[in-house]
Parts: sequence; structure tokens; C-alpha cells
Amino acid sequence: MTARDRCTSCNATLAEPGSTGFPCPACAHEINRCYRCREQSIAYTCSKCGFRGP
Ligand SMILES: [Zn+2]
Ligand SMILES: [Zn+2]
Repeated sequence: MTARDRCTSCNATLAEPGSTGFPCPACAHEINRCYRCREQSIAYTCSKCGFRGP
């Protein structure tokens, strides 16, 4: 994970530990979530295919 990675939900830079990245369940495009959005279960939207998930 690099410094230019940004949270898919809130667009925060993923500098903090605890952020996570995983492939989109629909198209395998990389989804990144910051610690805050993960803790609060903020919904994400895939920037490639528009898939929404918890
Ligand atoms: Zn976030
Ligand atoms: Zn997708």
C-alpha cells in the first residue's frame, strides 16, 4: 500500500495503520477503506463498476 492510496468512501489518504484494501466482489478492482470508515461500516462504492457494499 502506498501513500497515494485513498479511501474509496471518504477520499482520505490512507496513512494511518488499520486501513484496509480488498478487491471489489463484482469486478476485482481494488477498494481501499480508511480505519474510520471500516470502524463505522461506511458503505463503499466501487469506482470502476459502481458496486455498493458494506
Ligand atoms: Zn474513509
Ligand atoms: Zn467493482
